[in-house]
Amino acid sequence: RFISLEGGEGAGKSTQLKALANELRKRGLEVVETREPGGSEGAEKIRELLLTGSEERWGPRAEALLFAAARADHVDKTIRPALEAGQWVISDRFIDSSLAYQGGAGGLGIDAVRAINAFGIDDCFPDRTLVLALAEGGARARARDNHVGDRIGGRPENYHQKVDLGFREIAAEEPERVRIIDASGEPDEVTGRLLEAVADLLP
Ligand code: C5P
Repeated sequence: RFISLEGGEGAGKSTQLKALANELRKRGLEVVETREPGGSEGAEKIRELLLTGSEERWGPRAEALLFAAARADHVDKTIRPALEAGQWVISDRFIDSSLAYQGGAGGLGIDAVRAINAFGIDDCFPDRTLVLALAEGGARARARDNHVGDRIGGRPENYHQKVDLGFREIAAEEPERVRIIDASGEPDEVTGRLLEAVADLLP
């Protein structure tokens, strides 16, 4: 099974990914943890191109295509081989980040970004996408600290609001695959909510 974990920055995504992976391992599953942009050798190279340099380095279409190219490599080299070997894959971000960031917030539109990514992922959609959501404002400060001086550290506040809206729009369109998960409370509680949201996929 293939699960992606999504959300704005600072919602505890990386901590929760590890916790969820460990819970699944306790249930006897082999779990591959991976991340985007990146997750394969070529895609990590593209990640560097995306995260470094000035804000002006890439225009919106080039940026979206680079994310999609990185994703294509990630699918071919890491995700699909693991799934074919019977492993579970949990990815820190996947296609819905592109839909919400480049499509929703970046102004390209969700449909255009879905089209280039449909080609990129070659039908390798997650079985479930969990969007960690915090109430307004929650964790932006921490997010900024994580990205001081990189290309994406300087985005305006309303960019992040549009990202959140984008995720909610996608969840409304695809309620079976995409679930919004309340990221507030103790980390253990949040992990519990994530587990509950994938319970029907367990063997
Ligand atoms: O660690 P995190 O996943 O938050 O870092 C990746 C960064 O790349 C985020 O700051 C996010 O804003 C950005 N990103 C993006 N578009 C995507 C995926 C990630 O701008 N499609």
